[in-house]
Amino acid sequence: MQYPEPIAKLIDSYMKLPGIGSKTATRLAFYTIDMRTDDVDAFAKSLVAAKHDLHYCSICGNITDDDPCEICRDSGRDQGTILVVEQPKDVMSIDRTGDYHGLYHVLHGVLSPIDGRGPDDLNIASLIKRLQANATVHEVIVATNATPEGEATAQYLSRLIKPAGIKVTRLAHGLAVGSDIEYADEMTLLKAVEGRTEL
Ligand SMILES: [Zn+2]
Repeated sequence: MQYPEPIAKLIDSYMKLPGIGSKTATRLAFYTIDMRTDDVDAFAKSLVAAKHDLHYCSICGNITDDDPCEICRDSGRDQGTILVVEQPKDVMSIDRTGDYHGLYHVLHGVLSPIDGRGPDDLNIASLIKRLQANATVHEVIVATNATPEGEATAQYLSRLIKPAGIKVTRLAHGLAVGSDIEYADEMTLLKAVEGRTEL
């Protein structure tokens, strides 16, 4: 027996999410049907709003519903440091430690020759423009993940930025090799930012 089309479509949609196979997708689809109509409507609305109302900050590349984003607009933050991360969710992880008060820049990936991802595919040009336009920046902290691609990207940025007389540092290796910023606990991140080393 085939599922009625609306259920089949819902199962297909759930299966597009990471880590969700057909069994889980089917369970979620049937759960959704049993949910209160109000809750389903709110759920659908929040999905659409998240996709349509959010965009990337024109300055730092972080995800925001306002441009520039809240962090870029905050003149109380240290305008002299920019911490460079791979993904918007890394901004949240590091900012939650409460120990870093500077600005951010989101690359939206790392250099990966195997995947054909070069400097032009990342949010690097806007970082350079930012540094040229803002003479108060004296340090760029590269907080890419501790993977070979993350390291290569850090080295690349260092070679690019250092000639301008700006200090380039890398997070301390409290972070396990191959690990993602996203999954590090707050204490580890705090130590990694405090113990950063110059590149
Ligand atoms: Zn921003």
